[in-house]
Amino acid sequence: MNQQQTNSQKLPVMEHFYTIQGEGEHTGLAAYFIRLGGCDVGCVWCDVKDSWDATVHPHFTVNEIVDFVRAHPTVNKVVITGGEPAMYDLSALTKALRANKYAVHIETSGAYELKGQFDWITVSPKKFKAPIKSALQQASELKVVVYNKSDFTWAETHAAHVSTTCKLLLQPEWSKREKVSPLIVNFVMQNPQWGISLQTHKYLGVD
Ligand code: SF4
Repeated sequence: MNQQQTNSQKLPVMEHFYTIQGEGEHTGLAAYFIRLGGCDVGCVWCDVKDSWDATVHPHFTVNEIVDFVRAHPTVNKVVITGGEPAMYDLSALTKALRANKYAVHIETSGAYELKGQFDWITVSPKKFKAPIKSALQQASELKVVVYNKSDFTWAETHAAHVSTTCKLLLQPEWSKREKVSPLIVNFVMQNPQWGISLQTHKYLGVD
């Protein structure tokens, strides 16, 4: 497949926007978000259920997606999220974004093998479709959403499979944040290899 054909690959884009990364290691930094449609993980508390059906979202070529980003001259970082973006081969998109000097981040459940070149890989494992070992091994950060007490043990199970440089983060599920945040604070003080990730964009009122 030549470059022209590769960049004609179409991907379903639910939305794309320039904002502040609200979660994880890069919290507070500007980033361009590309939310791909399509997810078969099925989290009950998913806050982007509209992303699940890829067929209802417009499809754009790699070149068109890169042009969305290039329309904003101050962007230096692109976050590919979903949905479950790892359902797609992102080799062409990530290559094109990096050729334009953007750092490329991905947010995935880790349920699929990663295809593409990434500068930062956030794996946020979900109980509804287990992450695969290779995704955990490639993770730059492991971000576990805590919904109830049993999630701490579950988080440690996955932490056993990441690299030694991987950041370990616990994030309160938004609707349970008042109940689980004190538990997370206590856990992190007892297990300082872990840190806390908050959905700061929701506190700031940005997308
Ligand atoms: Fe929603 Fe993400 Fe879970 Fe898919 S993996 S159901 S997009 S929270």
